[in-house]
This record gives sequence, C-alpha cells and structure tokens, in this order.
Amino acid sequence: MQEQAETVVIQSIALHEEAVMLQMHLQAHEIRSELEGEYAVGNDPVLGNINGGIRLKVQVEDADEARACIQEFYQARKEEELRKKKICPTCGEEECFVLEQPTWHTLLSILTLGLFASLFPFYRYHCPECEHRWN
Ligand SMILES: [Zn+2]
Repeated sequence: MQEQAETVVIQSIALHEEAVMLQMHLQAHEIRSELEGEYAVGNDPVLGNINGGIRLKVQVEDADEARACIQEFYQARKEEELRKKKICPTCGEEECFVLEQPTWHTLLSILTLGLFASLFPFYRYHCPECEHRWN
C-alpha cells in the first residue's frame, strides 16, 4: 500500500489567478489537484516565468481526464474572448459589428409562432469579411 498517491505535473501556469481557476475547474469535475510553487510565484508573472511557473499536479490516474478538462477550460476561455472582442470565429476579421439586439419582437415571435420562430435565428454579430453570423 502506498501512503501517498503518485502525482504528476500536467500544466505550468505563470499566473496565480489562472492556476486557481484551473484548479476550481478540475474540482468541478471531481479531480483533486494541487499547486506547487504558488507561494514563490504569487502575482508576479516575471518571477513566475523564472521559476517555471506554478505547477498544477494531479494524481497519475487522473492525469488524462485532467488534461482533457484543462483543454476544455482554455477552449471555453478562447471562445469567451472571441465573443468579447467580436472577432470572427471563421476568418479572424476583427472589425465585426453587432446586429440589432432582438427584443420584444423576438419574444412576440416566439409567443405567436412558437417553435416556428426558431427557424429564424437571431444573430448578434456579423462579419463583413466572410458574411459569417454568430451569437
Ligand atoms: Zn469572417
């Protein structure tokens, strides 16, 4: 019997805030993790880089699942950033504009047309470059 389960470093993170967010994300998936070197790094990204950042460790048997969770975390964050910046997710155009927000008109359509209204999607953003529309 092992007294302590074997752990493995799955990610190095320069920012303490980010490390904590990742840890919380893993916790939500019931993966126990620990941070190594977080006190040395603190909130100083320069120092963090010198020390190789904060190391996120999980138990060996959780490593694969944890890596998938981290990937999901960064993917979700990237999408969130794209939404905020209104960059086209298809062609990368940065000058996308916001279409008129659906308001009472949408509500009325849904009330009167029911599910039929879902055939007319309301997009929030429009790309002038590739004509892509998205929410
Ligand atoms: Zn585009």
